[in-house]
Amino acid sequence: MSHLKKIVIVGGGSAGWICAAMLGHYFEKGFCEVELIESEEIGTIGVGESTIPPFLQLIRTLGIDEQDFIQKTQASFKLAIRFEDWRAKGETYYHPFGQIGGPVDVHEFYQCWLRAKANGHPSKLQDFAPATVMADTGRFMLPAKAQRTMIANANYALHIDAKLVAAYLRRFAEARNVKRTEGIVTDVATRADGGIEKVILRDGRAVAGDFFIDCSGFRSLLVGKTLNEPYRDWSDLLLCDRAIAVQTANVGAPHPYTLSQAQDFGWRWRIPLQHRSGNGYVFCSQYLSDDEAKAVLMRQVEGEVLIEPQVIPFKTGMRERLWVKNCVAIGLAGGFIEPLESTALHLIYKGMDYLLRFFPDMDADPTLAAEYNRRMTGDYEEIRDFIVLHYATTQRDDTPFWKACAAVELPESLKARIDLFQASGVLRDGVDDMFRAPSWQSVMEGMGIRPRRYQQLVDRVPYSAIEQLMDRSAPMLADFVRTLPTHEAFLRTHCPAEPVRKSA
Ligand SMILES: Cc1cc2nc3c(=O)[nH]c(=O)nc-3n(C[C@H](O)[C@H](O)[C@H](O)COP(=O)(O)OP(=O)(O)OC[C@H]3O[C@@H](n4cnc5c(N)ncnc54)[C@H](O)[C@@H]3O)c2cc1C
Repeated sequence: MSHLKKIVIVGGGSAGWICAAMLGHYFEKGFCEVELIESEEIGTIGVGESTIPPFLQLIRTLGIDEQDFIQKTQASFKLAIRFEDWRAKGETYYHPFGQIGGPVDVHEFYQCWLRAKANGHPSKLQDFAPATVMADTGRFMLPAKAQRTMIANANYALHIDAKLVAAYLRRFAEARNVKRTEGIVTDVATRADGGIEKVILRDGRAVAGDFFIDCSGFRSLLVGKTLNEPYRDWSDLLLCDRAIAVQTANVGAPHPYTLSQAQDFGWRWRIPLQHRSGNGYVFCSQYLSDDEAKAVLMRQVEGEVLIEPQVIPFKTGMRERLWVKNCVAIGLAGGFIEPLESTALHLIYKGMDYLLRFFPDMDADPTLAAEYNRRMTGDYEEIRDFIVLHYATTQRDDTPFWKACAAVELPESLKARIDLFQASGVLRDGVDDMFRAPSWQSVMEGMGIRPRRYQQLVDRVPYSAIEQLMDRSAPMLADFVRTLPTHEAFLRTHCPAEPVRKSA
């Protein structure tokens, strides 16, 4: 039994360079050779700019200085997603990062709030979420710099420039002995056991390896095209199948949240970076043509248009197995669930994290791949269910699209989750719990799903104590947040973007 000597990554988009950076970091001392093949001629998808908090865990795991990373990638802070017009036109809610309120005795805040609501208390759940209050008022402070204050339990992620991040991670990986090869893969040779032996480039060069990571994007050159792993198509659950993306100059200060505004046939995003904004319309082609979607998006974006709008078709779903033989598909090569909750970059990190946890040797014990696939499938399915929740519980019936969303038959796993939640606000654990309780609670509440009753054990606490907490803490939080710098001022003083490097 001997360890892998060479890993080949095919593809240099966000997925390829995140994988390369992680492997470079772990194998810096030359444990295993890593080579990445990418083609400038083919290019990358270039979108994927809103993240969730574990993205910062990746940056920290790599030992990258967060401030430097923000400055070089024109990043801004993201405290929440603001959903407009999802449940009904004119309604807005937030999905914030971090905690909502604090426990009372041993009881979860949410349960205490449910009890207060049952007693007619007028407060809103999000009045107690520090990240929501900051996002809504355009304020920002690093929670770590505000310990022992009311925002200490908030959390945040970043809005990033996808191309600058790939360039940053490329520099990081190349400095740690990852070899980059420019070229187009035109052929793939397989071994007698059906695994991948080598990839062959257009100019005739062959690159062999012991293990391959397929980061070739929607083309899925290795796991899809070569190993023929079937695709689990979830387009019956999530109806959108195309996006139009466009970059614009910023107008006004960047908001510390991603905007997700429901449209007649999908939804529109706005992701403000320090130097520009990313915008897009995710829609269902059954009801809207590319030209119509483009016209709708262009009517709504603000600021000078910086690049031509790009149309991106996609099919929601994932490969039945992501790890097959001696190859694992990471990023779009493995699957894609639309970007409503900004989860794709996280799945890349998760995919690499698990790969390092279940790292194979030359014999590649199939039980490692089986456990990897079980975990990753669990994560994909939890994300799928979470996104379906946003659509299927809508009250909108103003277009055929929204009527079709409301008529979607829920996956059993989501149905069971909603049923349990409605019974008493309890949440069912997933394989790895991608989303914590405040995420589900926020979206359920935003979409009008409230438990029928609170957990009766909360009655142990005198109601006067709960009422007092509700009465006092929301105004105190609002008052405290008013003392914080604006998001723009924080960026300017703490981590102003550096001019974009020519090589990036
Ligand atoms: C509309 C949209 C919006 C999104 N928004 C978000 C978001 O807000 N947040 C988020 O986390 N994710 C988002 N994503 C997902 C995110 O963009 C991707 O997960 C991420 O960019 C990773 O892409 P990738 O590296 O797998 O693929 P790509 O960027 O497509 O890279 C594929 C690589 O493979 C190379 N390649 C392909 N074929 C060959 C070949 N034959 N030879 C050599 N090289 C080859 C290409 O050159 C490229 O380097 C979004 C996706 C879409 C479609």
